Amino acid sequence: MHCNNNQKTVNGETLDSFTMDLLNTLAQPATGAAAPSTQEREEINTLADKANTTQLTTPIITLFARLLELHRAGKGTPGDFGLNLSDLEKLAVKHQRIDEHMVSVGGRLTRARPIAASANRRVDAYLAAKDSIAPSGIEAWDRILENKARIMAELGMDEAAWNSFPGQIRHAIDSVAVLARLIDLPPAQLESIAKVTQSYRMRLTPYYTSLIMPGAINDPIMLQSVPTGEMVENAGIEIPPVAADHSPARLVDQFYPRVLTIKATNMCAMFCTHCLRLAHIGRKDQVYAKEAYTEALDYIRANDRIRDVLITGGDAFVLPNSMIEWLLAELDGIDHVRLKRLGTRIPVTAPMRVDDELLDILEASNDRKPIRVVTQINTAQEITPVSREVFRRISKRTFAVLNQAVLLKGINDTRVKMWKLCETVHESYVRPYYLFNCSYRNPQFAHFRVPLEVGRDIVESMYGNISGDAIPRYIATAGGKIPLHRSNVVSREGNDVILKKPWSGEEVSYPDADPEIYANELFAFNR
Ligand SMILES: *Cc1c(COP(=O)(O)O)cnc(C)c1O
Ligand code: SF4
Repeated sequence: MHCNNNQKTVNGETLDSFTMDLLNTLAQPATGAAAPSTQEREEINTLADKANTTQLTTPIITLFARLLELHRAGKGTPGDFGLNLSDLEKLAVKHQRIDEHMVSVGGRLTRARPIAASANRRVDAYLAAKDSIAPSGIEAWDRILENKARIMAELGMDEAAWNSFPGQIRHAIDSVAVLARLIDLPPAQLESIAKVTQSYRMRLTPYYTSLIMPGAINDPIMLQSVPTGEMVENAGIEIPPVAADHSPARLVDQFYPRVLTIKATNMCAMFCTHCLRLAHIGRKDQVYAKEAYTEALDYIRANDRIRDVLITGGDAFVLPNSMIEWLLAELDGIDHVRLKRLGTRIPVTAPMRVDDELLDILEASNDRKPIRVVTQINTAQEITPVSREVFRRISKRTFAVLNQAVLLKGINDTRVKMWKLCETVHESYVRPYYLFNCSYRNPQFAHFRVPLEVGRDIVESMYGNISGDAIPRYIATAGGKIPLHRSNVVSREGNDVILKKPWSGEEVSYPDADPEIYANELFAFNR
C-alpha cells in the first residue's frame, strides 16, 4: 500500500493519498490561465450531471480525467467550472463505494491508467507491424484461394482430388520443372534447385504450394519446402549418425529413461529443407514390416520405466488409420505406458488427411490414456482456416495439441514474426511447446541457423506481453534437449557455447550459429 499521511475521511470513507493529491492538483491555481470557453464549461456541466446521477464508475473517472486535462491546459480549477471541492470529494467517495475493489478515483486515474498506458506502448510496434510483416494464412486466405485455383488448373486437379489426401500425394510436386509452372522462381534458381534435388528430396503437396505467395522474395513457405543451392554448398561434412548413439532397439530412439520415440515411418507429406531427420528420411519412401514395430513394442514392454511413448517419423499421420489404431492399441495395452504422443506436420502440410475415422481412433485411445498431438508450425503463414479447423477438431478429441517450432533465419527470427507465430498458434487450439535452436549437426542448413542470443532475446521479449501458455521453451538439441535457461549456459569459448545438461550435469560444447553467415544478406532465393 501507499503511504497514508495524506488521507482524509469524508462521510466515513477514507480518501487515499492518490485522490487527495489529485484534488490538491486540481485546486492549484492554473498556470498560464486561459479562461475556459463556454463550450468547455457546458461540457464539464454535462459530465458532472452524469457523474452525479450514475451508478457506474466510468462517468466519474471521465469527469475527473477531463478536469485534469483542462487544468493541465491552464483552463482553471474546478471552481472556474462551477464545481466546489466538496462536490468532488463526494464523487470520489461514491466511486470507491461502487467499485468492488474500492479502487479510488486518484488511484485509477493517476496510477493505474498511466501504468496500463505504458504497458500498452510495449506492444504498439508489434500491433502496427504484425499483419504486414507476418500475415497468417488466415489473413492471406483470399490470395491462397487464388493460388489454389491456379495450381488446380495447372495440375488438372478437381475439388475432390484437392480435398483428398491420396489426391494431394498423387499430385505432389517433386520436380523443379513442375514447381516452376506453379510458383515464381527466379530463373537463376531453377538450375540450382534441379541440382540440389539430386541430393535432397523435394516434395510439396499442392496444398502447401498454395501457401507460397507469388513474387515474395524468400517466402517463408518456399524456404521451408524448396531446397536451395546452399544445402549442397554447406554439406561438406557427412551427416553424423544420430541414431547409432541413441537407438537401443529397432525403430526406437531413446535419450531419456521415461520417454522414447518410435520412428514409425520415414515418409512425410512434405519434406522440410531444415529437417533434422534428414538422414533418417532417406531417399525414398519405405513401408516398414510389422515385425519392425513388434520389436520396438517388445523393447517398450520389457522396460517398465517407460511411461510416455512418442510415435514419430517422418510424419506419424502418413501411416494408414489401421496402423495408427493398431499401434495405439498396443501401447494402451502396456500397463506402464501411461501417455502417448503423435508427431505430425500433416495439419499444416496436408490437412485433408485428418478424416473422421482418424479422429475417432484418436478419441478412443485418448479415452484410455492421454494423447498429445505434437506438430511443427514455423510461421503464421502456415495456419489457414483449413488447418485451424483441423487443429480444433484434434484438440477436441485429444489431451492437447502442442507446437515444436524451429528457429529459422528469415522465417521467424524476429520478435514480430515469433510473437505473431505464437499468438496465431495459440488462437488455433495449439499450445507453443518448444522452440528449437536450429541444430549444428546437419551442416546442410547452416544458412538457416540463428545465434543462441538472438533466440533468447526473442523468447524473453514474450514474457509479460504474450499469454504465458503461448510462450515456448527455448531448447538446444545436443544428445537430448537442453533448455537454454541462463543456468544451463555455462560459458562461451570463441563461437562455441558450453551447455550443461540439467539431468546429468554433463557439459557439452555447442557450436553457435556462424555470425558471419547469419549476417550475410545474400540468402537463399535472394540470390
Ligand atoms: C524430443 C524427444 C523426446 C521427447 O522429449 P520431451 O522433452 O519430453 O518433449 C523423447 N525422445 C527423443 C528421442 C526425442 O527426440
Ligand atoms: S515433417 Fe518433420 S520429419 Fe518430415 S521432413 Fe519435416 S521436419 Fe523432417
